Amino acid sequence: MSNDGLENPVISLKLLIDKEKNKVVYAEAGGDFVDILFSFLTLPMGTLARLLEKSNSSVPIGCFNNIYASVATMSMKHFSTEASKQMLLYPGSLNQDKCQKTKLRMIDDDSQATKCFMCPMFVRSGQCSKGYSNFNTSRCSCGNLMNEVIQFQRKGVKASAGTNGVFVRSAHTSFIITDDLKVEVNSVMSTLKLLKELGYTDDCDKLVDLILDFNLQEVTALLKCLFTSDTPLTDTFLKKKSSCGIKRMLSPPPALSEEERESKADQTITVNAYVRKKEGNIMYVECGEDFVDLLFTFLAMPLQSVWGISGNGVTFGCIGNLCKSFKELSVDSASGFKCVLPHYYKCQKQQLLDDLVTTHKPPTYYRFVSFSVDHFREYCLTENSDKRLVYAWDKLLPVTSIDPKSEGNNNTADESSGFVKKGTKFIVTDDLVITPSNSSSVLGMLKDKQISLEDVECRVISMKQEEVIRLLRASLVTFSALSTGLLAMEPSSTSVPESRFYKKPKIET
Ligand SMILES: [Zn+2]
Repeated sequence: MSNDGLENPVISLKLLIDKEKNKVVYAEAGGDFVDILFSFLTLPMGTLARLLEKSNSSVPIGCFNNIYASVATMSMKHFSTEASKQMLLYPGSLNQDKCQKTKLRMIDDDSQATKCFMCPMFVRSGQCSKGYSNFNTSRCSCGNLMNEVIQFQRKGVKASAGTNGVFVRSAHTSFIITDDLKVEVNSVMSTLKLLKELGYTDDCDKLVDLILDFNLQEVTALLKCLFTSDTPLTDTFLKKKSSCGIKRMLSPPPALSEEERESKADQTITVNAYVRKKEGNIMYVECGEDFVDLLFTFLAMPLQSVWGISGNGVTFGCIGNLCKSFKELSVDSASGFKCVLPHYYKCQKQQLLDDLVTTHKPPTYYRFVSFSVDHFREYCLTENSDKRLVYAWDKLLPVTSIDPKSEGNNNTADESSGFVKKGTKFIVTDDLVITPSNSSSVLGMLKDKQISLEDVECRVISMKQEEVIRLLRASLVTFSALSTGLLAMEPSSTSVPESRFYKKPKIET
């Protein structure tokens, strides 16, 4: 692909507008625009929180902004390694390459392309771990930083001459997108049906066409509207603001049968919850690293997976419509919304999410060393490389991934460590602000809220998969994830509580 026109790329859109109401009826666009809409759903929650933070406005995605801000503000000493913090602040995704291919790749100039690093002494020293890391802050067992980028043998360029887009099937087709983000293939039938549904039967003179160029700046505006508006196209293109409000609703998920509960019974996470006796809400929980590792894993999960796992009974603006359209029009229809994370996110307590969240199998590379008369050459082959090019098979050294979350040893991904240091205690507030705990933080918090110790009781809460799913869906839609998710309390309000919204942190890197 050439870089032409990347300076100021635009996508042409045709909007059908209701003049009287100053409202978008629908947009007509090509696959390139739909790809951008769908790419939003593939972004990890941590990336969404960061991009919206960067746009200098408080756009709340339930409690996810607080989890993200907690990672950003927590001191490095509480993380198992530097890489652990890095992978949470800039979550990696298996869709990263695809997002880069969308026409307006606003998405994330900060996230690093997935690179692999090795110890520079790898070939020469016998003490080196025979592994690679995806982070250049990992340390080899010989003591050196693993900061040498692995150069891969150039892959044969795959011709991308399909008729498909990046995420959407049939890139060249035209689509219609309603104001509430239902996407359909454009046809006379579908437009007429839609106009009828929206009540435009015979008063079509108030409808006008508007052709406009959609540019890079507006991608962020559109993304913001996805989380703040029930009419994102109108708000992005006509009103230039997103204050019209958004519907957030959560009804309880269907309870699992005894049998289903039993089958998932082996693992639990236990926390001490401090509950206000009268109000019945959780003020905060005190927990070990297992619960925090689980909450941090939420940041790596793509929006579409969080939505899929949350199941029925969740309303959050137009996200449901967009997810449904994505499912219908996706290139990769088989994959559904299964959550597969890059291998380095693997950690123990994710087994609680068992069949719902899995990690990708780390690829093994082959290091090839060749000596010729005048130079020494090393490069790496991927599993898919054409190995016929290599005549000296005995010089192929397999290089497997190490767990960048564990420091200075050769843990394989099977014994993966967590993101935070073992043995640390944490405090998590109802809206998921996470801090390392000490005795003064507990008392300080009670004092801050002017609550006497007598009004508070401590309850032990054990979580299994069912509770974790409840917690995840409550984190997306409410600002009281613990009370709603774990005590099944009605979310008191679905409007953004000003006072609870976490203060904007300084991002420490
Ligand atoms: Zn080494």
